[in-house]
Amino acid sequence: MNKERIYICRECGVELTNQNKVYNRRLCKRCSTKISTNWRINHKEIFRTYLKRSDEKIRRLVISHYSNGKISCDICGENDINCLSINHINGEGRKERELVSKGKGGIPFYRWLIKNHYPKGYNVLCMNCQFRVFKKRMRINVIEKNKGKHFIYIAGPYTPKNCSLHDAAMKAQYNIDRAIEIANKLIEKGHYVFVPHLSHYIHIHYSHTKEYKEDLWYELDNTFLYNWATALFYIGSSYGADKELEIAKRMGLKIYYKIEDVPEC
Ligand SMILES: [Zn+2]
Ligand SMILES: [Zn+2]
Repeated sequence: MNKERIYICRECGVELTNQNKVYNRRLCKRCSTKISTNWRINHKEIFRTYLKRSDEKIRRLVISHYSNGKISCDICGENDINCLSINHINGEGRKERELVSKGKGGIPFYRWLIKNHYPKGYNVLCMNCQFRVFKKRMRINVIEKNKGKHFIYIAGPYTPKNCSLHDAAMKAQYNIDRAIEIANKLIEKGHYVFVPHLSHYIHIHYSHTKEYKEDLWYELDNTFLYNWATALFYIGSSYGADKELEIAKRMGLKIYYKIEDVPEC
């Protein structure tokens, strides 16, 4: 006759069943919880270190996932993990945390993200950029509510590509003229504009004798995107314009592709 063996808890002697036993240990769930609680009480320091280590691991895991393994700010590239956190792209972060982690950010929220298989709609930002994006959102809300003026950054090709030196000057001028024409139409609609193409005149001016620092113009233009613009007008694709479009999207700026879509104010 095949008699099933009976196991009992080594602490309290209760018979172990599928419902009350702890996997792989000869303990009932109650005794197991009691033992772990006692251990935590008697080893507070060690427990705190474990907890800290596992929190750090969770943070690193989530931040690395949402920055495509780079661990860096999606806008400015800051890569000190202590300055980075998860940002809700649509700005509904607070409401969502109320629902998923009792209003708590940080580790409880990161655990929820892992448990839910990293849902879409988040990115990684440093504290400065979080603050910038937050301020920008507030400003855009006020502008839209009051049908007010937008601060529009014009993004479009500038550097001539695939042409002779002779044609290059004409092509650059064409790109600048087009940006100016669009700027004028937006001014007529009542908005403020910034045309990065106008730096061309600083670049080619006779008083300029030294080479400008590499990336100077991108850096200068980005300060307008970060600190001034509430909207971006995208004329067409180029290395710079596409990067600017990406930054504007991450910053939550209004993006316009056609003059007729820009409201009058
Ligand atoms: Zn027991
Ligand atoms: Zn940043």
